[in-house]
Amino acid sequence: MAQLLRHLAGTGVTHLPKVDVPKPSRVLGKPRPSLVVAETVAVSESVLPVTEAGVATSRTPSRLRAVTPVAEMKSPSSVLGSDNSAKVMQAGPFPETKAVTETIYTDLESRRDALSKLAKCVAGCQRCPELASRRTQTVFGVGNPTADIMFIGEAPGAEEDANGEPFVGPAGQLLNKIVEASQLKRENLYICNILRCRPPGNRNPLPEEAANCREFLDAQIHVVQPKYIVCWGTVAAQNLLNETQAVGKLRGKLFDYRGIKVMCTYHPSYLLRNPAAKKQVWEDMKFFMKHLGVELQ
Ligand code: SF4
Repeated sequence: MAQLLRHLAGTGVTHLPKVDVPKPSRVLGKPRPSLVVAETVAVSESVLPVTEAGVATSRTPSRLRAVTPVAEMKSPSSVLGSDNSAKVMQAGPFPETKAVTETIYTDLESRRDALSKLAKCVAGCQRCPELASRRTQTVFGVGNPTADIMFIGEAPGAEEDANGEPFVGPAGQLLNKIVEASQLKRENLYICNILRCRPPGNRNPLPEEAANCREFLDAQIHVVQPKYIVCWGTVAAQNLLNETQAVGKLRGKLFDYRGIKVMCTYHPSYLLRNPAAKKQVWEDMKFFMKHLGVELQ
């Protein structure tokens, strides 16, 4: 082949017509000739380095490449397989969340109504098929629709999945103690999670699942319009703030999220496993409450 090309170049032939070039399976699999696009190729030094097996070297023009016709492209779900379909993201927002986030809320009733519409939309959400097929119910969020402080956790656990309310298990009971000690009242807060469905085995939310559920979180924040957000745990902190550091590195300061002050601290379930970290959470709550004008001892 190389010899022939050299010969043609020597006799003044400068171009060859379009051809289908099958590629050896050991390099690129076995593409059908119809899937290989070969444009007119100049007979020059750039195409001379061809091995005896016909495998183009790295100097092969980049325009010589295999492409898959659109009709044969696999959908994301068929690529990932049904057991990985939690990774599939629905394009575009739900009409309900779009309508809610395009409205400005000034009173309690309109906020309550908007949250109720969002909760109904969430209850039918199937974006993360693995989570949707296993949940007992969705866990939307609870609390005061006009709360100044919003708590954001990670995802529902078994008790939350059974009750439909965030932070009701042992971690929730510990959270209640922290709230009380901080001179706050749970009924004055708004509490929700990064995810509204329980991940199997309480595993961490997958990034795709957090992305799927983000429009609901943002819609809840839009309706409630809190002045402060407390992120409980690394998952909440990283997802809300688009941070990569663990919560241990994010605590002790206030962040800004769309004009809302955000404080990050350890998740109560982490405290159940590591009681020594309660001291740090208490320091964080003192720091946080000081910004609200409350000095905790
Ligand atoms: S976690 Fe959120 S996005 Fe995923 S199925 Fe549940 S409600 Fe829908």
